[in-house]
Amino acid sequence: MLDILQARWRQGFRTVLLPVTQDAFPDRFRGRPIIDSTKCVDGCRACVDACPTGAITITAPAPATAPATATAPVSTSAPANRVTLDLGKCIFCPACVEACPTGAITYTRDHRLAARTRDDLRITNAEAPKIAALDAAMRKLLGRALRLRQVSAGGCNGCEAELVALGNVVFDMSRFGIQFVASPRHADGIVITGPVTHNMRQALIETYEATPAPRIVIAVGACAISQGAFASESGPVSGIPPEIPVDLFIPGCPPHPLTVLDGLLRMLGRNES
Ligand code: SF4
Ligand code: SF4
Repeated sequence: MLDILQARWRQGFRTVLLPVTQDAFPDRFRGRPIIDSTKCVDGCRACVDACPTGAITITAPAPATAPATATAPVSTSAPANRVTLDLGKCIFCPACVEACPTGAITYTRDHRLAARTRDDLRITNAEAPKIAALDAAMRKLLGRALRLRQVSAGGCNGCEAELVALGNVVFDMSRFGIQFVASPRHADGIVITGPVTHNMRQALIETYEATPAPRIVIAVGACAISQGAFASESGPVSGIPPEIPVDLFIPGCPPHPLTVLDGLLRMLGRNES
């Protein structure tokens, strides 16, 4: 018993406090990418060609228009290409960063990636995706006690490993009243990981239907959001069925546990950082 107490004393306090500091992440951590389209070289598509998941698109600048009046100033700087990076498809590999000759795409150490809509995951600059909290009625219902059933719908299990880590002493998700439960009957919502294989599609639909309304749906990881690295496998995966509306998208491959926690807390209106 004394040994246990001594070991406990030596370990000290391990739980990550919020708001999170950079010390919480390992050196190799890659956070939210940022884009500076003004650095793009005309006609360059190196990042598009390098990306294994088709997460990057480049829109050419609109053709220059003549000034409205003869005396209006004429712009001498060429308009920049517009690079759009879809965080929902990104697997943080980082082939685009290495391929870009001008450093137009870089990684930050910002773990905040989650968004409430699929469109908000398409970033074009240095801004973090927007995330709106649930409405007041849902926050009153779920804000202090959220029970979630996790459905592993294919994938590599990397996302599930990070979700399991949320229960350990470092991330301690239950201090916020958020827990995973065994049955959808006891859950307020479902957390989906994986690209949804054909074998798991019906099980996912039935789990969703077995969860009492009002319920929320959270897609975790590139696979669940866009089928990620499995997107080109036309056969065995089909993505989250349209009859299951997603309330929160958490990108990553896999997402860091603090990215998941940040998304959940901001959805519940409990973390404005
Ligand atoms: S880091 Fe993301 S956007 Fe860049 S190449 Fe890899 S998957 Fe594509
Ligand atoms: S998103 Fe990445 S880590 Fe998660 S299941 Fe898919 S391949 Fe694995």
